[in-house]
Amino acid sequence: MSAGHVVAPVTGGAPASGPASGPASGPAGRGDPVLEIRDLCVDYGVGDDAVHAVVDANLTLRRGQVLGLAGESGSGKSTLAYAATRLLREPGVITGGEVLFHSQPNAQSRPDAVTGTADLLDLGEGDLQRVRWSEISVVMQSALNALNPVTTIGRQIEDVLKAHRPDLNRAGRVRRSTELLEMVGITGDRLGSYPFELSGGMRQRAMIAMALALEPQVVIMDEPTTALDVVTQREILEELIRLRDELGFAALFITHDLSLLIELADEIAVMYAGRLVERAGSESLFRAPRHPYTYGLLNSFPPMHGARVAMTGIAGSPPDLRSIPSGCAFHPRCRYAMERCSVDEPQLVPLSHGPVPPGRSPREVSCWRHDPRSAEPVPAELNQPDPADPAPANPAAAAPAPAPEEEKA
Ligand code: ATP
Ligand code: MG
Repeated sequence: MSAGHVVAPVTGGAPASGPASGPASGPAGRGDPVLEIRDLCVDYGVGDDAVHAVVDANLTLRRGQVLGLAGESGSGKSTLAYAATRLLREPGVITGGEVLFHSQPNAQSRPDAVTGTADLLDLGEGDLQRVRWSEISVVMQSALNALNPVTTIGRQIEDVLKAHRPDLNRAGRVRRSTELLEMVGITGDRLGSYPFELSGGMRQRAMIAMALALEPQVVIMDEPTTALDVVTQREILEELIRLRDELGFAALFITHDLSLLIELADEIAVMYAGRLVERAGSESLFRAPRHPYTYGLLNSFPPMHGARVAMTGIAGSPPDLRSIPSGCAFHPRCRYAMERCSVDEPQLVPLSHGPVPPGRSPREVSCWRHDPRSAEPVPAELNQPDPADPAPANPAAAAPAPAPEEEKA
């Protein structure tokens, strides 16, 4: 977080003005890290009464990929995203960490776009303004109400273009606004509509069009489709994936609905009580969860295919962040808890599961049950063969993890 954490100086200038100093020199490659959140800590309030809403969060967003962030209400998902983009409001305080943005502006970027690697937590206001919306855009949780009710959709998109694309004249802005609306499946004649004249789904699409207006390198979406019916939700998500493939942005998609992420995300991170407890490729997480909380979440919704299974959910409620249980924060709700779990806090550590495919991160879990030094065996439900491992020995790998037979009282 200090000035010393800026890996490379942030410089204005067009992409052609010099080589980028991010992890990938040359053209931005799919799978290269674009945003690295390291050891991020966020409190609400200060002193003894401070609520530790995010504790030592580590996440990597990669170009062209969707990273899903899941967890129950109040687990810290929005806090993490807003802190990482410096949108956190008081009494939120970032108490540690760094957020490295490896910027490789594209042809649509503004002429003075930030290039190279910078710690967003260290950026001055001027640089931050150049990064926000044009390079990193955020669709906030209350996005459905974020549109100005007394201004037409067209004018609102145009305003974004006016602020960041001085090269476009009025006709160019109208052309681009039409193009953007059509890109998200709204006909251009809707440019003159006010938000109240649009359905919830259309307003959400318009928000996504605005977020993509400047072809950002990173798009952060916080529960963007939660208020919509499942059909509209699916349509918008399919559109989002198509746009991701076409435009190559990286997306952080936040939702409490893990089932949504299974289909949408390349990788999924699961958050509990301010801590990331598991991160894995989407299919690995679905077929072979390692953390008891992930396993519980997966058994809280019915599978789309296959035999009917009993839904068990997770006993108890998430803790009040003002009084987090000792040791592993999940242990009072965990049917696999051992003595140690109430004493020592586990860290998110990589699991050794074969080679990591290029453009991916090793899967990680924070659970003492997976400590190789533990004398206790790993429960079978938390040890299903990972489909990402080469040639799983057990054909059960083709099936999701079995439901537990009984629920913890
Ligand atoms: P949801 O799924 O409901 O959106 P979330 O995972 O996004 O939840 P956050 O909004 O990040 O959760 O909140 C995380 C925790 O931070 C909450 O449990 C709450 O205790 C605390 N918190 C959030 N906002 C404030 C605030 N303004 N003041 C004090 N504490 C706050
Ligand atoms: Mg939230």
